[in-house]
Amino acid sequence: MKKTRYDERHTLFSRIRLVKGTKEYSEFYTAHPHYQQKDDAIRQPEFHLNTRQDASFKTRVFPMTEALNPLLKSLHKTVETHPVSDNKITVGDAFSNTIKALTKLYGAHDVGIIKLKEDHYYTHKGFTGAMIGLSHYGETITPNYTHAVVFLIPMNFDYLKRSPHYETMLASLTTYHQIAQVGAQLAMYIKSIGYQAAFMSDQYYLAPMVPLAYDAGLGQIGMSNHLVHPVYGNAIRLGAVFTTLKLKPDAPIDFGLDAFCKRCALCLMNCPMQSIKPQKRIVNQRPFYRFDDQSCFEMFVNIGTDCGICLQSCPYSTQIDLKTQEAMRNDPEKIDQFLKSYLSKTGPKRRFSNKNPLLITKGGTDGNNA
Ligand code: SF4
Ligand code: SF4
Repeated sequence: MKKTRYDERHTLFSRIRLVKGTKEYSEFYTAHPHYQQKDDAIRQPEFHLNTRQDASFKTRVFPMTEALNPLLKSLHKTVETHPVSDNKITVGDAFSNTIKALTKLYGAHDVGIIKLKEDHYYTHKGFTGAMIGLSHYGETITPNYTHAVVFLIPMNFDYLKRSPHYETMLASLTTYHQIAQVGAQLAMYIKSIGYQAAFMSDQYYLAPMVPLAYDAGLGQIGMSNHLVHPVYGNAIRLGAVFTTLKLKPDAPIDFGLDAFCKRCALCLMNCPMQSIKPQKRIVNQRPFYRFDDQSCFEMFVNIGTDCGICLQSCPYSTQIDLKTQEAMRNDPEKIDQFLKSYLSKTGPKRRFSNKNPLLITKGGTDGNNA
């Protein structure tokens, strides 16, 4: 069966950075007119300027996220210019465990390995990287690397619980930055033992992350179309290092998420834009769900920050213990019992009750607005 290769230029975060009147804009929408009308309505790359906060808040909080960009740029440059050592070491299968342990030591919470196939890669670069001057829009991507080390870091759940709020964006961006640091260190190490390596960050992707993480056995794909990890749920960010170092690949896992999602659908019910759909769609033999990326981003534009309600709605994000998971695995009745008890604690509302003081308040960054 012929496999589809994704094109990064089709991703929403690339499309909304196209500027009207440019060659890229005209070429893209001539070839794909069905995207144009809705994309034009939500074309606001600097959507966070819409956030409903006063000027004092904006001047205090925006630099928290903007300050990460120069650091990210320098990480990419450092790794890219780091030479590949001439003293290539020879490794066997057991070395994969060393690489996984090292990735965890650098800060990852779970790690898997895949053998890269051509269809893992995007065909072309999109506009990711524009914020740190790394955009190579339209460049063809050559599948030069043979393996990928794929890993995850959980987001700060106290911050994510405030979704949709500016804390969601802070939690997201700081976790992306940690992902980049882990990836950069690992890529530098791999180059130092004689193999090519490059790390993915939220500003540099050679491939979409969810299929990689699924193939690497880090979790299953939930109704929200995110990867759901058995311990950290949806509240994670994904990273990867692509390399020519040959490692022993892992395989996809099944912890009963399909049956759970069928009974749960909390991400779908809590999504304010109805962007999440229950219908399955199989892409390259991986089980995804239908999803409306335009209405989802409309929410970001409306509120001026990351949404993340689907991430915090997922019962798996609250860390269901493994014994409970095993007891209800593929058993609709037990799943319903679990959900009843879960909802009696969290309530049907999308916001969790939040008794903990958080750091971000209107007009300040150090008070208690719980
Ligand atoms: S981020 Fe918000 S709008 Fe987008 S799918 Fe999730 S809940 Fe819906
Ligand atoms: S919220 Fe429920 S339906 Fe959505 S991904 Fe999580 S488990 Fe699946």
